[in-house]
Amino acid sequence: MAMNRVQFQPGLSMAQFLDRYGSEDQCETALIASRWPQGFVCPECGSGENSSFRREGRLYWQCSACRHQCSVISGTVFEATKLPLTRWFLAMHLLTQSKNNVAALELMRHLGVCYKTAWLIKHKLMEVMRVREDARVLDGRVEIDDAYLGGELPGGKTGRGSENKVPFLAAVQTTPDGQPQFACFAPQPFTTEAVAAWAAKSLATSATVVSDGLWCFGGVKIIGAQHERTVTGGGAASTKLPQFKAINTLLGNLKNALAGTYHAFDFTKYAHRYLAEAQYRFNRRFNLTSILARLLRAASVTSPRPARFIRAAEVCR
Ligand SMILES: [Zn+2]
Repeated sequence: MAMNRVQFQPGLSMAQFLDRYGSEDQCETALIASRWPQGFVCPECGSGENSSFRREGRLYWQCSACRHQCSVISGTVFEATKLPLTRWFLAMHLLTQSKNNVAALELMRHLGVCYKTAWLIKHKLMEVMRVREDARVLDGRVEIDDAYLGGELPGGKTGRGSENKVPFLAAVQTTPDGQPQFACFAPQPFTTEAVAAWAAKSLATSATVVSDGLWCFGGVKIIGAQHERTVTGGGAASTKLPQFKAINTLLGNLKNALAGTYHAFDFTKYAHRYLAEAQYRFNRRFNLTSILARLLRAASVTSPRPARFIRAAEVCR
């Protein structure tokens, strides 16, 4: 069997992680460098002139121009946290390096925090991933399909039309010969208008979309993209068609990765975030060594996401 290029890449080992980010000082230094690679810049006025001091162990800067004071976490997704940065770094490491998803309960055990805290950390970091992936645009050959996430109630319908599931559009950009490159998942209804709105946001006009016979996928033509429709008749036969290999493999892997990991209620309420996490990780699967540094950078430029926003499940821009 051929070695899988994704599975066998070295990644960042736990030993390397601890060497680099094992102490609070190391994490603080890494976060400062990530947020201000050219040196401190005042978030209020943009000036670089500053003085710094420590208060209760944490480093603060005071802008010499406007007198604004801030720490390295204020104005970022880490704002107001009472946890050491080492906990956040460990959470980021676990979320980016594990092959399968890490649920809040597992995070709780690894970090030694309560469930509520672990859940909030997990959702804040998923929110960082969502913001980062929000601008993803697919181009070239793109396979799309309809998919469903979440709890099945006994006796409920399955597949299209199920009342208990969150419908989402799954799309994967491939090379001309069908090798998967980038993915995009979007919770939304399957109407021509919704597909057209998705295409306007996440699809280049030069893309060629390959789909089954579901009528609404024709909505991609509204933005000028090409559309190749294959009427499959559904069922097992359609999952074997070569033109849908990338999307079927992707959805199969997604289903396996999510199965049993998450609570069904969270799943349906926060589908946008769980899907964004899967999308973020898939689109960086060849870069496991740098994925933590990139998530750190994304977290340092994402504005605070207070707990009330995280729990309300609204999309916070
Ligand atoms: Zn200033």
